[in-house]
Amino acid sequence: MSFEFSEEFDFENRIMDTSEIPEDTVDGENPLRPKTLDEYIGQEKVKENLKVFIEAAKQRGETLDHVLLYGPPGLGKTTLAAIIAKEMGVSIRITSGPAIEKPGDLASLLTNLNSGDVLFIDEIHRLSRAVEEVLYPSMEDFAIDIITGKGQMAASYHLPLPHFTLVGATTRAGQLTAPLRDRFGVVLRLELYTPEELALIIERSAGILNMEIEHDGALEIASRSRGTPRIANRLLKRVRDFAQVMSNGIITCDTARIALDKLEIDELGLDQNDRRMLEAIIKYYNGGPVGVETLAAAIGEEAITIEDVYEPYLLQIGFLARTPRGRCVTAEACRHLGYKVPNGTANVQPNLFD
Ligand code: ADP
Repeated sequence: MSFEFSEEFDFENRIMDTSEIPEDTVDGENPLRPKTLDEYIGQEKVKENLKVFIEAAKQRGETLDHVLLYGPPGLGKTTLAAIIAKEMGVSIRITSGPAIEKPGDLASLLTNLNSGDVLFIDEIHRLSRAVEEVLYPSMEDFAIDIITGKGQMAASYHLPLPHFTLVGATTRAGQLTAPLRDRFGVVLRLELYTPEELALIIERSAGILNMEIEHDGALEIASRSRGTPRIANRLLKRVRDFAQVMSNGIITCDTARIALDKLEIDELGLDQNDRRMLEAIIKYYNGGPVGVETLAAAIGEEAITIEDVYEPYLLQIGFLARTPRGRCVTAEACRHLGYKVPNGTANVQPNLFD
């Protein structure tokens, strides 16, 4: 098996990348995004809870409590925020933590909201401290204090804001400061999807894109989509090209299998990068444990990418375990990749410390 540490990976073109790329949208819109809770497939617990909270708020004629959504990228957090706004019958403003650079940016966003609106802040764990300080009172009291001028000329104004719902999304709830986390009345964790749920998502998307797909074909794509709708939709589009040439445009199980094999996505959904990372732990760290920073440096990747993009799925399928001393591969991962199980790895229990 060939192995290259120096191989730089082009993230822009990664099919399995879980962040949104231009290919996912048409005229800046994503036609595959469900627009209502009923169209939103899976995440049953989250949907059940949200339905109750939305209904109750509507009955009382109040705005919905602030909502925090967390889970790996591509699972439907942005989609859900837009659905919340639609179900509440209000507008949504979309921004992200890094885009709000100064307290003044936040103040201008907040003062431009209408009563009841949803403000969606993606990557909310990346807000600066100074911006967070302005966010607290606005979430709690729907007012902000603005200071103008300096020294003797300084004046402070207490500015009331319209009541709004903040929907925050993050891949890492643990990185949120406690005061910010405590100000969300509703905290919902999104889970990776099952292959059956992903197959439904794929069939729905195929319908919207006018593609013919057999159920087995949808399941084949689903089982290689690492529990993530964004990847499932992307693989569907790639498989379409193969189906056009191979099977009269109909996506069958066989076409899906051949197409995905050609794209080097194996039957568990691992791509070259997952394999490269697991192989690095096996070959260079004897199966682990290895610290995430060391591993990141070894494979030329950022630690945050390993934690947010690779790990959730590898932990879920029991190929990787997090231990207090670092990451270990499991015996199952070694067998899948065709390696002898290194000493010690056989005893690693998947997700023991997760
Ligand atoms: P996140 O904000 O968590 O990164 P998005 O909300 O952008 O994820 O979702 C990624 C894509 O996956 C969406 O464009 C949508 O097409 C699809 N998607 C996500 N969740 C669902 C779902 N529950 N049902 C159907 N499609 C979904």
